[in-house]
Amino acid sequence: MKIELKEIGEFPVEVSIFEDKKETKFVIEGLTLVDGVNAHLSIQQTDTEYYLNGVCTADVELVCARCLEAAKMSLAGEIEIIVIRETGSAERFEDTDDVIEIDDKEILDFSEQVRQALLAAIPLKPLCSPACLGLCPTCGGNRNTSPCVCPAPSGDNRWDALKGLS
Ligand SMILES: [Zn+2]
Ligand SMILES: [Zn+2]
Repeated sequence: MKIELKEIGEFPVEVSIFEDKKETKFVIEGLTLVDGVNAHLSIQQTDTEYYLNGVCTADVELVCARCLEAAKMSLAGEIEIIVIRETGSAERFEDTDDVIEIDDKEILDFSEQVRQALLAAIPLKPLCSPACLGLCPTCGGNRNTSPCVCPAPSGDNRWDALKGLS
């Protein structure tokens, strides 16, 4: 995902970029892009730097943690980038992935920042739906699509002993 900073005439400015999945260079393991990636950024300029911040969003398909079927969801990640226009001034900033040095052409490629932002936005347990019933622990069937007749796993038996007392 790229932006030609030199082409922007006035600052601060709000920019929206869409990159089709065919053009997207990065890969996030375990995840497929449905359409592509959107980025909405506000950009500020100083004599020596550009400051970009905003969000990137993407509709993605990944694997449901409960039923292992495809789960579609929208991810939104935050982006903050400092772009150094003047070589040699990078030492003033901590060495992080969020600081990028560019040359005179001022074409910023921030694909890696987008990749990291989307990666961080993936939920720990992605679900196809909040109500996903998951796989049956007994027969392994997908309980969303084929309700099985397996007995419910007998969980807590501690009270069974009391049943005979009444
Ligand atoms: Zn599921
Ligand atoms: Zn079952």
